[in-house]
Amino acid sequence: MIDEREQVMEKVTALCKRRGFVYPAAEIYGGVGALYDYGPYGVALRRNIRHLWWRHVVELRDDVVGLESTILMPPSVWEASGHLEHFTDPLVECQGQCHQRFRADHLADRERCPNCGGPLSEARRFNLMFRTHVGPVEETASEIYLRPETAQGMFVDFRNVINSTRVRIPFGIAQQGRSFRNEISPGNFIFRLREFEQMEMEYFCRPGEDERWHAYWLEERLRWYVEVLGIRRENLRLREHGLEEKAHYAKASTDIEYHFPFGWGELEGVANRTDYDLRRHQEFSHEDLSYLDPETQERYLPFVVEPAVGVDRIMIAALVDAYDEEEVRGERRVVLHLHPNLAPVQVAVVPLSKREELIRVARDLQARVRPHFRVEYDETGGHIGRRYRRQDEIGTPFCLTVDFDSLDDRAVTIRERDGMTQERVPIAGVVERLQERLAG
Ligand code: ATP
Repeated sequence: MIDEREQVMEKVTALCKRRGFVYPAAEIYGGVGALYDYGPYGVALRRNIRHLWWRHVVELRDDVVGLESTILMPPSVWEASGHLEHFTDPLVECQGQCHQRFRADHLADRERCPNCGGPLSEARRFNLMFRTHVGPVEETASEIYLRPETAQGMFVDFRNVINSTRVRIPFGIAQQGRSFRNEISPGNFIFRLREFEQMEMEYFCRPGEDERWHAYWLEERLRWYVEVLGIRRENLRLREHGLEEKAHYAKASTDIEYHFPFGWGELEGVANRTDYDLRRHQEFSHEDLSYLDPETQERYLPFVVEPAVGVDRIMIAALVDAYDEEEVRGERRVVLHLHPNLAPVQVAVVPLSKREELIRVARDLQARVRPHFRVEYDETGGHIGRRYRRQDEIGTPFCLTVDFDSLDDRAVTIRERDGMTQERVPIAGVVERLQERLAG
């Protein structure tokens, strides 16, 4: 176990680059602040995160449906939602030598520049939304915004969903997709980005039942991190927002925080948005957004509880939580103890040598296991131990080793990542055995 927690961030960042999880965006041109691309294993990990969220928040339930709304949304949406007015951070600028800009609420000392010690300007409100234009003419009438949250899509389409499906309150609308914020002081690798991916669900309920649903979703989301993603419970905690930090729409908000190497930080927010958003959209659009209870014939504006999280933050939390280094027979072993649900590769097929007979068996084995698991085939040169290490480093739970005995006994070795144990299994039963072990 490594205990220098602060160093883990650097190590995970280096691993992400080295093994193709994360690259700086447009790196050959010097990169752009707080924009990152995801490489092959990063994509696999993110797809797993998204899939597991969708599976548990939408597919395994009767009361949540999906939506994909546009990234570009007109100013009227953001005026109604309050984002044009309130979605700002306090910005201060160094008036000494460096002229750097900072988020005032992130500074311990609001008088002096933390970089060069120069005096800081008065704080001014800086709106975080990116603005662009639709059509060829850049004029005010053609202004449009990149969404800073996916949530507004669910409110704007609320009536369409009600009218086109059989949902009944309480129910939720869920969406995954890119959001954009022109963050003043991004950083901590992919923790605070300018382009990121959100997974949000708006759960509509009767006013008066909102507090109960708020407690329910907090519990449910916490359970998902621990049981489905395998994140260690001691690295998670709940933190209720104080009055001054609550968003403009929230009655109450609780963060699920993760113990990142740089300190506790927000992983997910679970907010009680009341009927704020529907009420505002009703007012600004002059459309009726109320809900008619089919049984009681009562008409009302539902309250909303929202669990909202970023894929990128879950990705670092999962990597940091799983990262470990050990000494094995005098050598350093880097291993990601990722939950098999999250592992980019679940099973690696490794022939002991490049001999044709072995490769034939290994390719057959790959074809046999591939329909059931995420599989990688690795016959690159190098000692078998080195190939195990490579798989350990990306978190692959099992390697299947084909050796010369396999030609006679039609069996292979299952080598396990965490305990490095080995088990000999007949090829005919390998899928069932792996299923058992991945489940157990
Ligand atoms: P913060 O206080 O860290 O700026 P926030 O409270 O503004 O975050 P929310 O508006 O609640 O964040 O967004 C919901 C979730 O979206 C967050 O919990 C986080 O996981 C993710 N998220 C928000 N902003 C970013 C960002 N700039 N980069 C990456 N993920 C983000």
